[in-house]
Amino acid sequence: MSAPASTRPTAPVLRPAVPDTGLPANALGKEKGALEQVTLYVFVIVPFLALAAVVPAVWGWGLSWLDVGLAVGFYSLTLLGITVGYHRHFTHGSFKAARPLRIALAVVGCMAIQGPVVQWVADHRRHHAFSDREGDPHSPWRYGTDARALLKGMWHAHLGWLFDRRQTSAERYAPDLLKDTGLRRTSRLFVVWAFLSLALPAVIGGLVTASWTGAWTAFFWAGLVRVALLHHVTWSINSVCHVVGNRPFVSRDRATNFWPLAILSAGESWHNLHHADPTCARHGVLRGQIDISARVIWVFEKLGWAHGVKWPDPVRLAAKRRLPATAAS
Ligand SMILES: [Zn+2]
Ligand SMILES: [Zn+2]
Repeated sequence: MSAPASTRPTAPVLRPAVPDTGLPANALGKEKGALEQVTLYVFVIVPFLALAAVVPAVWGWGLSWLDVGLAVGFYSLTLLGITVGYHRHFTHGSFKAARPLRIALAVVGCMAIQGPVVQWVADHRRHHAFSDREGDPHSPWRYGTDARALLKGMWHAHLGWLFDRRQTSAERYAPDLLKDTGLRRTSRLFVVWAFLSLALPAVIGGLVTASWTGAWTAFFWAGLVRVALLHHVTWSINSVCHVVGNRPFVSRDRATNFWPLAILSAGESWHNLHHADPTCARHGVLRGQIDISARVIWVFEKLGWAHGVKWPDPVRLAAKRRLPATAAS
C-alpha cells in the first residue's frame, strides 16, 4: 500500500500509532462487516453498469421527458443534500440550520447513497485534517508523484478508498453529530432513505404514465443513472480536484479549482478555495465562479431557515490569495 516516504510530495511529520496509516491511536473505529462491504460493492458497481448500459437502453426502451425531468429533479435534490447538507452544514458548520431543515438535509443527503451522514462527515473531516498527507483517507498523491503512482492514486482517491475496511472513527471526528439523537436516528435509517431514493422515481414514473414501462424507465434514468452520475461527480472532487486545475489561493495541500465541474457539482469543484478557507459557505468566491449551493444557502437564510452563515470575508480571502507570479504553480 505505501510507497517509500521519499516519493511522497509532502513528507508527513507524524508519529503514527496505527501501523502503516500515519494516524493517531484513536483515529480509526471498528472494521466494516462483510455484509456492509458487499452492499458497498453492489451500490458502487450496479449504478456504474447502469451507466454503461445507457446507449442500448435508449434504443431498447426509449427515454421520455418525464424521465429526464425526474432525473434532473432527483439529481439536484440529492446533490444539494451532499453539498449544502453533508458538506457545508454538517462537516464544516458553514451555517446553522433550523431543526426541520437540518433533518431534511440529512435525509436528502442519505438519498445520494454515499453512506450515512455521520460516517461521511467523519471521513471528510479526516480528509481536511491530513489533506494530501499520510492519514488522508483519499489523497491522489498517496503513492507518489510520477505518472504511474499518480494514476494509481487517482483511482484510489476516486473510488478505491471506499473499500478500505478500517473506517474513520466517528467518535473522534464527528462527536458533535453523535450527540444529536434525532440526527443519529436519521443517519441509522440510511438504508431506508437509500431505498426510497431509488423507489420514488419508479413510483412517480409508474403513476404518471399509468404503466410498468414508465415505472421501469423512470427507475433506470432517475434512479440508477442519476445515482451513478452523482457518485462520479462527487468522487471527482476527491480525485480530479486535488490534481487538475488552478490554485489561486494558498492551501497546505494540492486542492484545485476545476471549472468544468462547477455546475454539475453545485460549486464544489472550487475546491482550492474550500481547502484554503474550509468553513466559508461560498466556495466560488471569484468573479464568474458559479456556486449553486451558496445560492441555495442564501435562499435558506432569506427564508429564515438558516442563520450564522459564514459568508466570504474579503480581508481573510485577500490574505490567502496567491501572488500572480506563483498562480500557475
Ligand atoms: Zn479535498
Ligand atoms: Zn470540505
